[in-house]
Amino acid sequence: MMVRVILQNLTWQEVDALSREIVVVIPTGAVEQHGTHLPLVTDSLIAGRIAEEAEKRHSKDVLLTPCLWLGASAHHLGYSGTLSADFPTYQGAIKSVIESLVPHGFRKFVVVNGHGGNIDPIGVALRELKHTREELLLCNFCYFLQIQEQLAAILDGPDKGMHHADEAEASLVLHLSPQLVKKDKLRDDGLKPPVAGMVHNFKELSEEGSIGYASLATAEKGIRIFEAAVSALETTILALASGYRLTAYPAK
Ligand SMILES: [Zn+2]
Repeated sequence: MMVRVILQNLTWQEVDALSREIVVVIPTGAVEQHGTHLPLVTDSLIAGRIAEEAEKRHSKDVLLTPCLWLGASAHHLGYSGTLSADFPTYQGAIKSVIESLVPHGFRKFVVVNGHGGNIDPIGVALRELKHTREELLLCNFCYFLQIQEQLAAILDGPDKGMHHADEAEASLVLHLSPQLVKKDKLRDDGLKPPVAGMVHNFKELSEEGSIGYASLATAEKGIRIFEAAVSALETTILALASGYRLTAYPAK
């Protein structure tokens, strides 16, 4: 039987027996509004399932942690039900997971993120950790930034990237958890492009909470996007598992 390496299901002795070359995969997302058609758990669901699938395919090389579901979602707080951590709290949570495992000898970490608003805070948290612990291998893996070419090829709408509750994201949820999609409410919204670099609250961007062409979403596209994201994560995991090193520094 295949042995799964899911941290919360193991005993401490089983964790202690793992190779320290193993890659710790930390999924993180959000519980925040996703328009009229997708559930609040969307980003955590997607990041969690991508990480789970990669662990399933590479159990020998992966230690999977629970999904850190509370994200940095202040820009969505104008909609009921959104839960948000402030930046220091969210960064502290990411760092705490890693800093708990470092004293036990683990040193390779991939944060698998499903929420755009988490990208910057994860980046700052990982840079701070790297500054004080240079032996750590740390990766800020935001799944949709890793598959931009594939997304452009898969999507039918004029918008070729990942936005909020759009064609791409709604397709993923139609694939992963179709019972959570309000199919009669899939709608296009937030289609006016903002000026590059502008900082917005979501109500300034969208009438009902989404951005993009959700009406074009299908489960079939979701399967292809999911596979592209898992495959990109597999590549990252294998690169770290095999001893990632670009130069002779640091001297061994
Ligand atoms: Zn989302």
